[in-house]
Amino acid sequence: MWIDSHCHLNHEKIKKLGQPSEIVKTANDAGVEAMLSVCCRVSDEFPQLLEMTKTLKNVWCSIGTHPHNAGVQEEIDISQDELVRLALSDSKIIAIGESGLDYYYDNSTPEQQQESFRKHIRACIETNMPLIVHSRDAEKDTMRIIKEEGTGTKLKGVMHCFSSKRILAEEALDFDFYISLAGIITFKKAQELRDIARDIPLNRLLLETDAPYLAPEPYRGKINQPAYVIHTGSALAKLYDITENEIAKHSKQNFFTLFNRAKMK
Ligand SMILES: [Zn+2]
Ligand SMILES: [Zn+2]
Repeated sequence: MWIDSHCHLNHEKIKKLGQPSEIVKTANDAGVEAMLSVCCRVSDEFPQLLEMTKTLKNVWCSIGTHPHNAGVQEEIDISQDELVRLALSDSKIIAIGESGLDYYYDNSTPEQQQESFRKHIRACIETNMPLIVHSRDAEKDTMRIIKEEGTGTKLKGVMHCFSSKRILAEEALDFDFYISLAGIITFKKAQELRDIARDIPLNRLLLETDAPYLAPEPYRGKINQPAYVIHTGSALAKLYDITENEIAKHSKQNFFTLFNRAKMK
């Protein structure tokens, strides 16, 4: 019924809760039937991530370099051609990312992040695969680069864990991107974000946990896991004033429209 469109199942923190197969079972038992485990480092994380997803039913992965890692030499060394080749190497890989810009943390320079972001966008256009965008404190440059690289192409994607200003939501929607909401919308202080979320059309909405980070209420501060996506869904149902079923149905439909390489088993 529910889908977690963005989690990190292979993260060290989640391992504290159990093996990936156990985390998936907990999610399945709670009504979360599928999930996308997102890649942050191509050079050393991706091979294990892919192997893990191959052992799990209705769990897929992406391939990409998180902006935090955009300055790592091994990631810089991965060419667009190599990224494309790897992305198309297995049917379990359904997206490219997460890539983007994070000016809040300066783990890598803006120039390195932008260079990496452009490489990912170009790989998406070449493969017709969707882009998972991470953007923090970088609204202007995020949309500028998406427009520069993507205008006139079939580029599609999602602004993941959306927590930026309204302008980014509006411009991303204008560009036919999806917007994915995480547990932040359940936090008391996130009224501004809830106001933005309310205006996202139902056919553009995705749900995610970004686990192990950002557990929704009532688990705030705990290690997050895909099973908890339901709490974000329930908060959204209240916000939209529709049933949880409808939120689940729309976000699932949107997931399979955007990530069209994903096939349920
Ligand atoms: Zn992210
Ligand atoms: Zn993430």
